[in-house]
Amino acid sequence: MKKVVKFGGSSLASAEQFIKVGDIIRADKSRRYVVPSAPGKRYSSDAKVTDLLYQCYHLAENGQAFNKQFGQIKDRYNEIIRGLKLNYSLEEDFETIKKQFISKAGEMYAASRGEYLNGKIMAKYLDYEFVDAANVIRFHKDGTLDAEKTNKLLAERLSAHERAVIPGFYGASANGTIITFSRGGSDITGSLVAKAVNANLYENWTDVSGFLVADPRVVKNPEIIHTITYSELRELAYMGASVLHEDAIFPVRKVGIPINIRNTNAPDEDGTMIVESTCRIPAYTITGIAGKKGFVAVNIEKDMMNSEIGFGRKVLQAFEDSGISFEHMPSGIDTMTIFVHQDEFAEKEQTVIADINNLAHPDSIELESDLALIAVVGRGMKSTRGTAGRLFSALAHAHINVKMIDQGSSELNIIIGVKNEDFNDAINAIYDMFVISQL
Ligand code: ASP
Repeated sequence: MKKVVKFGGSSLASAEQFIKVGDIIRADKSRRYVVPSAPGKRYSSDAKVTDLLYQCYHLAENGQAFNKQFGQIKDRYNEIIRGLKLNYSLEEDFETIKKQFISKAGEMYAASRGEYLNGKIMAKYLDYEFVDAANVIRFHKDGTLDAEKTNKLLAERLSAHERAVIPGFYGASANGTIITFSRGGSDITGSLVAKAVNANLYENWTDVSGFLVADPRVVKNPEIIHTITYSELRELAYMGASVLHEDAIFPVRKVGIPINIRNTNAPDEDGTMIVESTCRIPAYTITGIAGKKGFVAVNIEKDMMNSEIGFGRKVLQAFEDSGISFEHMPSGIDTMTIFVHQDEFAEKEQTVIADINNLAHPDSIELESDLALIAVVGRGMKSTRGTAGRLFSALAHAHINVKMIDQGSSELNIIIGVKNEDFNDAINAIYDMFVISQL
């Protein structure tokens, strides 16, 4: 059994958290490869070390003094080292980093040091080998990941070590220039390592007990999702549920390694298992509910639209020409509606409307703003009768007017459009119907 364990910033924000992490790793011998993030927030108003590094580097880049900010960063690490009672110093590294800042080694180099330094402490604390991600995570010159080369380098290097710490978030191009993933990218490193060592499981340790059925800011104490498929996760993540970096699923998904989201502060909980497919029936027919506010419906009417070949293409052309992507496109016989993001559309609306008029000559175009989209996602819907019936009766009882309905052919989700102001009530009504009433 071989596990790769990734710990997020809040799991490594202080010596106290490091101790919890050490206990978790030592509790299971198969936790052999460890991917740490940089120290995150210790309390809600605290700063993440990655943010401090960005700020500090911007000062250095503009030729301003950055000693004070740099001192803050050093303090964070020194506090951890002291708290862990390690006989260890990062002074040499601090000096090198400072010099590199002065010689403007790049923003990505700066940001990557958060993980680099934390990885060194972690390796020392666990007595694991430290493997610098710069030598094993390879990027192309254009900043995109060289997945093939990375897999080869990681597999080669890690086959020589029974146990190792590989810092997350960064790698390097062939000439050694440090390149980072986008924010939250340590999740991707973990996934790449899991693939390369052919792990049985990729554990992603964070500060929540897994994916929740609904957003806790909307629904009080939502239930945890025990098992979710990659496709369901993608639907929910797209609609705003975020725990894991989106790109982290691709490397492991292909090779069938499950991801287990776990809580460092509640290690006895099972968390959420993310799998390619499962025969486990979800507990509540639906797996999760997620949504986003801030959409506009562009309603277009034209007599005999149904028989005019190419009408839809011309309308979509108008959006494409302005670089606007559309979310949904429900249609009637002589009507079609395009859902777009309000903030993206607002600045270009007049151009888009003029283009639709010129290209497609509709009878009318009407806009309806301040709409929200809610996705009700679940692999269980396919085999259950009456899901849509229950969903809409829940909304009707809550006096919510449904503006749009879209069920994908996969039957994995039903998307509904409601007014922004009905967003919270709608999600709660759905949650009550499918979860609370089943408890
Ligand atoms: N430390 C980086 C960030 O704050 C990467 C990560 O934590 O995954 O985005």
